[in-house]
Amino acid sequence: MGSKDTKILIAGAGIGGLTAAGCLLLAGYDVEIYEQAPELGEIGAGIQQSANSMHVMAHLGVLDALKATAFRPPVTEFRLYDTGEVLQSLKLAEAHESRHGAPYLQLHRADFHAIVAERVRELKPDIFHLNSAATGFEERGDGVVLKLADGREVEGDLVVGADGIKSAIRHQIAGEDKPVYTGDSAWRLTVPTDRLPENFLDGKSSIWVGPAKHAVIYFLRGGKLLNFVGSVELDEWIEESWTQKRPWEELKADFAGWHPDIQTIVDTVDKTECYRWALNVRPHLESWSAGRGVLMGDAAHPTLPYMAQGAAMAVEDGAILARALDESASIPEAIRLFEHNRMARTRRVVDGSRENRRLFHLNTIQELRDEFAKRDMDRERSDWLYSYNPLTVPLDKP
Ligand SMILES: Cc1cc2nc3c(=O)[nH]c(=O)nc-3n(C[C@H](O)[C@H](O)[C@H](O)COP(=O)(O)OP(=O)(O)OC[C@H]3O[C@@H](n4cnc5c(N)ncnc54)[C@H](O)[C@@H]3O)c2cc1C
Repeated sequence: MGSKDTKILIAGAGIGGLTAAGCLLLAGYDVEIYEQAPELGEIGAGIQQSANSMHVMAHLGVLDALKATAFRPPVTEFRLYDTGEVLQSLKLAEAHESRHGAPYLQLHRADFHAIVAERVRELKPDIFHLNSAATGFEERGDGVVLKLADGREVEGDLVVGADGIKSAIRHQIAGEDKPVYTGDSAWRLTVPTDRLPENFLDGKSSIWVGPAKHAVIYFLRGGKLLNFVGSVELDEWIEESWTQKRPWEELKADFAGWHPDIQTIVDTVDKTECYRWALNVRPHLESWSAGRGVLMGDAAHPTLPYMAQGAAMAVEDGAILARALDESASIPEAIRLFEHNRMARTRRVVDGSRENRRLFHLNTIQELRDEFAKRDMDRERSDWLYSYNPLTVPLDKP
């Protein structure tokens, strides 16, 4: 497709929208980003990114900057919640990089977002339109108009809904489908490691599994910060928001009886900085598009975070969208190619993450031991998930 005269309007400057913008700009398309927030940014917690995402970051030219601020864990261990017994271990660091051609990084979300945003700004300095909430889009002539909440209308050739789990663009494409509470809420905490015992957990990343709960622990910023996400099954639904603080005593009670290392984290955290977020998903969609509007990232396929792949899928989407446009003769053809190459894979991640909820929350120690003994987490993830390179994977024609 003629890229120079094709204008792409992206709703949402999350990691998905930013990555799509970067890949599209590098491919020669004109891009504008409309973000509802008054400032660009991300919340202060961690995010893990595997090789399938990091290939794209190398393509954008930001991999070295990300590496410089990240933590590279030697392994991820699956451990029993009370004794800490290691049920399985996934090799990361050099093993991941040599096997998949790019590193496995654990990053502060704010760093990840800022580095990619900076690169996008470098590629097109006036790309960001803040305070610009999208409300929908409309086909007009042989183009499309993105409508903003303040009444502005912007003309382009393609609208990309990268506006997250509460997507307005999805609402228009798929109709009313409210986010569904999964039954899990996630505590998120960060603790400066200088408050913790020396060589705490040996820098290993770990997933602690137990009845109706699990906890994910890893390090950020070269090991200066520890990140803790504790998922607990809770009937009570509280508005999904990263900024929802809850009393520390609830956190303490939720992890009562867990391993001493978990108690160390819970006891060391700043007691006024305990956040808990209700985890929601949405039903699978059969189509992510209508006319010249298409969804990507969490707007298209929100997932439980239990494979640590939601943002990685949004990153992959961004790279494949740019390639689909390049390999197609028209916008409708590109949209079909994009959907055809993204739906099955993202659905597998959504379903696999839900299956991990069952696995991580089994009721008894015996069930946990038996189930982990049957599985090979390394093979389950490596063969299809981490080895996918969105820059080179052949695009299958619909
Ligand atoms: C506890 C937890 C841990 C996680 N850990 C990982 C992990 O380790 N690895 C991983 O890959 N993923 C992880 N994820 C998933 C990841 O956070 C998401 O999948 C990812 O942020 C999705 O990116 P996105 O750009 O699609 O959407 P978002 O990050 O939600 O960005 C959407 C953007 O659109 C803006 N917006 C919203 N509505 C509008 C509108 N109407 N108009 C304009 N702008 C709008 C928002 O302000 C925001 O900037 C985790 C999620 C959770 C909850």
